[in-house]
Amino acid sequence: MNKYAALILLLAALACGRDNQARIVELLAQFKQDAARHGVAVDLRTTSARLVDSFHDGRVGQCNLDTRGVELLRRWWVRASNACQEQLLYHELGHCILDRTHLSGYQGPQGFPTSIMRRSVFNCDVYMHYRAYYLRELFRFKE
Ligand SMILES: [Zn+2]
Repeated sequence: MNKYAALILLLAALACGRDNQARIVELLAQFKQDAARHGVAVDLRTTSARLVDSFHDGRVGQCNLDTRGVELLRRWWVRASNACQEQLLYHELGHCILDRTHLSGYQGPQGFPTSIMRRSVFNCDVYMHYRAYYLRELFRFKE
């Protein structure tokens, strides 16, 4: 590889990193708006989200309850669709901001999962199709 090819790859990697962070910032702002539409005030100053290169187990994201920081597995994130990125980040913010715990079951529309607070990401097309239901369930859980 000549030095110009290496430079281009480096710039591409940097641009990619910036795009990922921009996408995270965009989703955090969107989460705040979605929360407000459901009557929940979210203060993003106490929350952060970043990509990490590995977890000790097979997970793809987590909320660090000590720092209230969301950590997302980079190699999963860069391949995920916008819908899956949203589902995962909203799940982790459910822990970090809304103090939600996991909720399993299939009480959602058409027998689909009850909540995005289940333990693993589910079909992201289903999530987007029933997004209104899943956001209501996420933000209005206590009612
Ligand atoms: Zn979780």
